[in-house]
Amino acid sequence: MELKITCIPGDGIGPEIVAEAKKILDTVAEKYGHTMNYTDILMGGASIDAYGVPLTDEAIETARNADAVLMGSIGGNTSTSPWYKLPPNLRPEAGLLAIRKALNLFANLRPAVLYEELAGACPLKEEISAAGFDMMIMRELTGGLYFGERRTVEENGVMKAIDTLTYDENEIRRIAVKGFDIAMKRRKKVTSVDKANVLDSSRLWRKVVEEVAKDYPEVTLEHMLVDNCAMQLVRDPAQFDVILTENMFGDILSDEASMVTGSIGMLASASLNDSKFGLYEPSHGSAPDIAGQDIANPIATILSASMMLRYSFDLDKEADAIDAAVRQVLKDGYRTVDIMSEGCTRVGCRQMGDLLAERIR
Ligand code: NAD
Repeated sequence: MELKITCIPGDGIGPEIVAEAKKILDTVAEKYGHTMNYTDILMGGASIDAYGVPLTDEAIETARNADAVLMGSIGGNTSTSPWYKLPPNLRPEAGLLAIRKALNLFANLRPAVLYEELAGACPLKEEISAAGFDMMIMRELTGGLYFGERRTVEENGVMKAIDTLTYDENEIRRIAVKGFDIAMKRRKKVTSVDKANVLDSSRLWRKVVEEVAKDYPEVTLEHMLVDNCAMQLVRDPAQFDVILTENMFGDILSDEASMVTGSIGMLASASLNDSKFGLYEPSHGSAPDIAGQDIANPIATILSASMMLRYSFDLDKEADAIDAAVRQVLKDGYRTVDIMSEGCTRVGCRQMGDLLAERIR
C-alpha cells in the first residue's frame, strides 16, 4: 500500500520526535511491504519565521492532498519567544486552529493507557492502578458550548454573560458513528457521557447515540452522567473502553484521564474528519525547555503514528506491531528522562527510536 503522509515537524522538540516516528513508519513499511510518501510542511513558529504567518494556504493544500497528517508539536516559550509578541491570529497556535478548521476535523481521539511498567507514575492508589487501564476518549471538537453564540450585556446596571450550548442531530450522529467504529476495533464497549438529567442537548445526544447503536449490535452501549464519569475515572478506570462525549465534557475528562496515566510523553492523540483522513499528534506541547538535546520522549508521537495506521489506513496488524514494540521496550527497562525510574536504563530520543525499530524488525 502507498501511504501519502504530510508531516509537520513544528517547533521545539517537534522535529526530533517526528524524525523518530518516521523511522518507525519506515521500519513498518519495510517489514510489511508498504511505501511511505512524506511531504513536510511548516506550521507554527517555523512558518512564522519563514513566511510571517503560522500556516500558509499552500501548506493547507498540501495537507488536504495527503491521506493523513502526522504532527510533532508547535509553539515556543510563551514568556520569552518573540512569536508571542505578535497579535493572537499570527501566533503559532493560530496555525493549529486554522488547520483543524480547514480539514474539518470534528472528532478528537485521546487514548489513555496505563502501562504496567509505568504504574508507579499513576497517582491513583495501588489497588486501582494494579488493574491497569486502556481507554479511548472520543470528544466532539467543533460544536457545543465553545462554538455557540455568546455575549456579555448589561441589564439594569448588572453585567450578564451568556454562552449557548447547541448541538444538532447530524453533529451528534457523525461523532457517534466514529465512536462506534473505533469501538469495533477495540473491546466493543461505548460509554456515552452526558448530562441528560439537566440539559436538552444531552437528551438529544442520548437519543441519537441510541439510534446509531442499533447499527452496531456487537457493541455494548452504556450511558453515564458526566459528574459520575469524572468520579469513575479515578475510582475504576479499567471499566472504560470508548468514552464518547461532547466538546466541553470531553475537554475536561480527557485531561483528567491523561493525568491519571501520569506520563505526558506517552500520550497520543488524533483528530478525524468524516472520511478516513486524520491529523495525528502527541498530546504534549513542543517542550522548548528540552529542545535540541536529544532527550525528548518520542513515544507519544510514535503511538500517534500507530493510530494513523489503524484509523486512517486500516493497517491494524502494523499498528499492533508498533504498540507491542512500545510495551516490549518498557518491559526491557529502557526509559527516556520523563519516565525514568530506578533500575532502568536511560536513553535519548534517537536511541529510543532505534530500540523500537529493532523490536519491530
Ligand atoms: P509541554 O507539553 O510542551 O511541556 C510540559 C513539560 O513536559 C515540560 O517540562 C516538557 O519538557 C515536558 N515534556 C513534554 N513533552 C515531553 C516529551 N515528549 N518528552 C519529555 N518531556 C516532555 O507544555 P508547555 O511547556 O506548557 O508548552 C510549551 C509550548 O507548547 C507552548 O508554546 C504551548 O503553546 C505549546 N503546545 C502546543 C501543543 C500542540 O502543538 N498541540 C499542545 C500543548 C502545548
